[in-house]
Amino acid sequence: MRTGAVLAIVAFLLFGCKGEQQATVEAPDAQKSAAMRFATIGTGGVTGVYYPTGGAISKMVNKKAKEYRLRATVESTGGSVFNVNAIMTGDLEFGIVQSDRQYQAYHGRADWDGNPQQRLRAVFSIHPESVTLVAAVDSGIQTLAELRDKTVSIGNPGSGQRGNAGDLFEAAGIDPENDFRAEGLKAAESAGMLQDERIDAYFYTVGHPNGSVKEAVAGARKVRFVPVDEATVAKLTARFPYYAPSLIPVEFYPGVANEADVPTFGVKATLCTSADVPEDVVYAVTKEVFENFDEFKGLHPAYKVLTKKSMLQGLSAPLHPGAERYFKEAGLME
Ligand code: GLU
Repeated sequence: MRTGAVLAIVAFLLFGCKGEQQATVEAPDAQKSAAMRFATIGTGGVTGVYYPTGGAISKMVNKKAKEYRLRATVESTGGSVFNVNAIMTGDLEFGIVQSDRQYQAYHGRADWDGNPQQRLRAVFSIHPESVTLVAAVDSGIQTLAELRDKTVSIGNPGSGQRGNAGDLFEAAGIDPENDFRAEGLKAAESAGMLQDERIDAYFYTVGHPNGSVKEAVAGARKVRFVPVDEATVAKLTARFPYYAPSLIPVEFYPGVANEADVPTFGVKATLCTSADVPEDVVYAVTKEVFENFDEFKGLHPAYKVLTKKSMLQGLSAPLHPGAERYFKEAGLME
């Protein structure tokens, strides 16, 4: 074996998978260009839509792993806020992040109050997500006001839903400290806890259909989606640029107590990265998803509404130059 190859293997064993670290070891050019790079995509709980979305993106990229010297892997995480923070520390190369969280992080609001994440970059947006309040029918919760004195999970601290629930309470005049018992459960535990009668309702900002809500609906305890009334939605969309009215489609959940689609408000799932991630890596990810758009779209029913153009909307951090290069090449951007 040639010395260069030995060095590359030793470097791999010593330093793990990060491309930059391998590049610090002197190796002949041919060896250097052969080194595989790894990019991890942070998602959410396994019963959400982020997790299969990470899988769908990595599937597109990994078909060309050799050509790009890039292999994408997926990690289940606590959600949007966790993903932004892990991208910023370099623990994740990519993360799926709610559009509102992308905005807040870049502009230094909410969880990042006074601490703007200026190196956060947008890649593209994906499916719409609805703020979904799943409640047990026997809890009697049919409106937001009926959350009073109930036990309600508003989501784990790293999740996107936690902030949406907070905004909603403020707009609807509900005091989360005193009006009900708040729990901070992870999305993946919430359906089970509802069925076990440990909670009365839970918030989940998520695309539809998803495994969590299917699990909740399939249990013995009957559930319903609680609507957000028009006046409250209007308040939220007037106050925050990233919220839009949305509907939860009931057709995906046979057995749910609602008979018609349920009005609420929502955001978009977006793919984010850091300005420190190399341009060719972000270019490869963007290109493979867009060039295989029809196949990608077929990988999850929540992508039904996607168009290539829609995937450039809902972004508030600057576009990563790798994504921009592809969009210009493909004529999707001036
Ligand atoms: N929107 C949720 C969050 O940011 C995750 C939804 C999902 O996993 O599909 O935490």
